[in-house]
Amino acid sequence: MSAAPFIEAASPHVMNTYGRVPIALSHGQGCRVWDVNGKQYLDALGGIAVNTLGHNHPQLVPALQDQLSKLIHTSNYYHIPNQEVLAKKLVELSGMSNVFFCSTGLEANEAALKLARKFGHDKGIERPEIVVYEKAFHGRSIATLSATGNPKIQAGFGPLVEGFIRVPLNNMDSLRAATLNNPNVVAVFFEAIQGEGGVHAMHLDYLQAVRQLCDERDWLLMIDEVQCGMGRTGKWFAHQWAGITPDVMPLAKGLGSGVPIGAVVAGPKAANIFQVGNHGTTFGGNPLAMRAGVETIRIMEEEGLLANAAQVGAHLAGALAQALKTELAAGSVKEIRGQGLMLGVELAKPCAALVGQCASNGLLISVTADSVIRLVPPLILSRAEADEIVGILCPLIKKHIAEQA
Ligand SMILES: *Cc1c(COP(=O)(O)O)cnc(C)c1O
Repeated sequence: MSAAPFIEAASPHVMNTYGRVPIALSHGQGCRVWDVNGKQYLDALGGIAVNTLGHNHPQLVPALQDQLSKLIHTSNYYHIPNQEVLAKKLVELSGMSNVFFCSTGLEANEAALKLARKFGHDKGIERPEIVVYEKAFHGRSIATLSATGNPKIQAGFGPLVEGFIRVPLNNMDSLRAATLNNPNVVAVFFEAIQGEGGVHAMHLDYLQAVRQLCDERDWLLMIDEVQCGMGRTGKWFAHQWAGITPDVMPLAKGLGSGVPIGAVVAGPKAANIFQVGNHGTTFGGNPLAMRAGVETIRIMEEEGLLANAAQVGAHLAGALAQALKTELAAGSVKEIRGQGLMLGVELAKPCAALVGQCASNGLLISVTADSVIRLVPPLILSRAEADEIVGILCPLIKKHIAEQA
C-alpha cells in the first residue's frame, strides 16, 4: 500500500510548527493505534500524556456521544452542572478549595500567574515577582514562555514578560539567596516533575522545605501538574508523594483523556483572589469538556488506574534498567528516572533520531531535551505492553549507541 500523499510532503496550508513523524494515524484501541496505511503502533506517548484511558475506551466514548447529542457548548453566562461535579471531585482529590476551568495547560498556568500577581496587588505589592525554575516548561503564550526556562522556546519572542526570578532545581540555598530581602516575591512556581525539560523531579524534601518557606513568607506555592498530575505517577498529583498541598495547581493534559480541558485548582489562600470580571474564557468548562473530565476520573477510580500506573510503571522502569544494564554501566545511558508512567531514559548523546526509528518499528515515543526518551503512555498500559515497549525500544537504543560510537 502506498502512503497517502498528504503525509509525503510538508503540508502547504498548515503552519510549519512541528517536525512531524511522517505518518498519519487513523484510529486506535486501548494502547494501540493504526496509521492510514494499516500499520499498527504501540502508543507509549499517549498524545503527550493526554490519553489517560487510551483510545476508544468502551465507557468514555458512549458517554461523550451521549453528551454530544445533548450540549457541546453553552458559555459561562449560565450554570454548567458538571463544572460543579468535576470541581467537587478535584477539590476532594487535592484537598484544596475551588477550581477555574479553561481549555489548555498554558491557560491554566496563565490563570495561576494572574492569581499570583493579584495576590500581590491585594497585599499592596505593585510589582509582584514569581520564582520560576531552570529547564521549566509552562507553555507557549507570552507569559508562560517567559516563565519557561528554555532559551530555544523564548528566542524571537522578546520582550519577555517581567517579574520572574529564576533558580535551579532542588536547591534551597539558591531559592533563599535569590529572594533575600525581596518584598516583591509573591509565589514559587514549578512542575513537581518537569516533563519537557527532561523528566526531572523535585525531591520530596525540597517540596516540603519550599512549602514551609512559602508559609513563613506568605507566598503562594504553585505547582504545575499539567503533565505529572492526574494519576500519572501513581498518586492523583505528583506533589502528594511529599505529603504537601500547594496553594495553586494548574492541570490539563490527562484530565479529559483527549478532550481539550484545563483547570486551575486553588487552596484557601488563593480561592477568593479572582472576583467577578477578573478572569474568563469562552470555551473553558463547556459541557463536553466537563463530561470528559467527570467520566475520566470515574473510570480511573473504577479501573484502579493509579495503582496500575504505579505498578506497571515500576515494572517498566525495572525492565528498562535490566535491558540497558550494560549501557548504564558504560555511561552511554546516563539514567532511567521518573515515577509511575512518567519515565525518562537519558542517553549521553542526542537521540532525536530514535523517534522515527521507533515509529518504523511500531512504537510511538518522544525525545525531549535532546537526549531524553520520554515514555508517558496511557494509564491502562498492561505489563505485557510494558514488556513490548522494552522489546522494541531497547534494541534500537543499543543500535543507536553503537552507531554513534
Ligand atoms: C504541556 C504542558 C504545558 C502546556 O500545556 P498546553 O496544553 O500545551 O498549553 C504546561 N505545563 C506543563 C508542565 C506541560 O507539560
